Amino acid sequence: TRRWLFQKAPIGENPGPQHFTLDTQPVAEPGPGQVLVETIYLSVDPAQVSWMQGIADYMPPINPGDVMLAGGAGRVLASNHPRFKVGDLVTGTLGWQEHMLCDGYDLTGQPLRAVPADAPLALTQSVLGMTGLTAYVGLFHIGRIQAGDTVLVTGAAGAVGSIVGQLAKIAGARQVVGVAGGAEKCAWVTDTLGFDACIDYKQQNVAEGLRTTLKAPVDLFFDNVGGDALDAGLGAIAHGARIVVCGGISGYTSTPRGPRNYLNLILRRARMEGFIVLDHADLFPEAVRRLSRWVRDGRIVYNLDIVDGFEQTPDALGGLFTGANRGKRLVRVAAD
Ligand code: NDP
Repeated sequence: TRRWLFQKAPIGENPGPQHFTLDTQPVAEPGPGQVLVETIYLSVDPAQVSWMQGIADYMPPINPGDVMLAGGAGRVLASNHPRFKVGDLVTGTLGWQEHMLCDGYDLTGQPLRAVPADAPLALTQSVLGMTGLTAYVGLFHIGRIQAGDTVLVTGAAGAVGSIVGQLAKIAGARQVVGVAGGAEKCAWVTDTLGFDACIDYKQQNVAEGLRTTLKAPVDLFFDNVGGDALDAGLGAIAHGARIVVCGGISGYTSTPRGPRNYLNLILRRARMEGFIVLDHADLFPEAVRRLSRWVRDGRIVYNLDIVDGFEQTPDALGGLFTGANRGKRLVRVAAD
């Protein structure tokens, strides 16, 4: 069985195989009370870089030689654990390894969660997992969306952003404007996801695009990107705007220029608030219930960007920083 071990954090460059080592070990048999899980999907997330950099206090520290941390979903291959039997589907922080031998707890010490046998496993790592929950918590709870809001979403073609815009529409937003890189992504954002408009930041100055696109100043700004796009968005906020700081991927591996338009927070009496989705576990049951219904009813569409092959995992992560992904990126480690 293979494992990708963390070696060093990417600073000033995108993550890739040079930051890890691949090792191979025999698959161990579970001892008393142990369970052996086969990894099927690994979630690929921008935040994994901050875990490597040791700046995320909600994850355990990761040291050189440790299995790289990542959420995932898998299947029980062998079990001497009373809660698990062969064939059970589970999720948790399985890490970058093809198999995990454990005592029922994942790499962060959280209990493995059972998944209903009929649940589409990939969705537990995307629209019905942290991705969808982040969109839901950020938009409804932190952003307190209201019908009639003008909403701006950066990273609009990404995993979280693509769900945020659709939820905003469901919530009755007046105009939902996205920002994404490339004509093809922008076309998907408007034509398939139903955003009212999308600004291609690789073709156009975002501040300029907002001036011609927005019908009214921005009431709710959901930012995934930081840097120039954050600054442009802050230049377009309404009085009493709510700015949800979900992420700032443009600054994870390099230092972007700071925003200049933050002084609008004062002039417009706006509120800018960060959040960590994991702090809002009390909202997850309600969120999963509602997201599941909207997915079933076709009111939320999603794209899974599946990279096949465990050996591809470091490059799959690096690709998030060049915009290589279309929607939620997963690595498929074994057949579903
Ligand atoms: P995405 O699927 O959005 O993938 C990353 C995307 O970011 C790329 O596809 C790319 O899209 C865009 N991007 C990469 N580099 C840059 C750059 N320099 N400038 C502008 N855009 C860039 O990932 P997720 O949906 O999983 O995550 C989105 C954000 O949400 C991240 O910032 C992440 O850290 C954050 N997050 C926060 C959580 C929380 O609890 N607060 C939980 C989960 C995620 P494009 O081609 O359009 O440039």
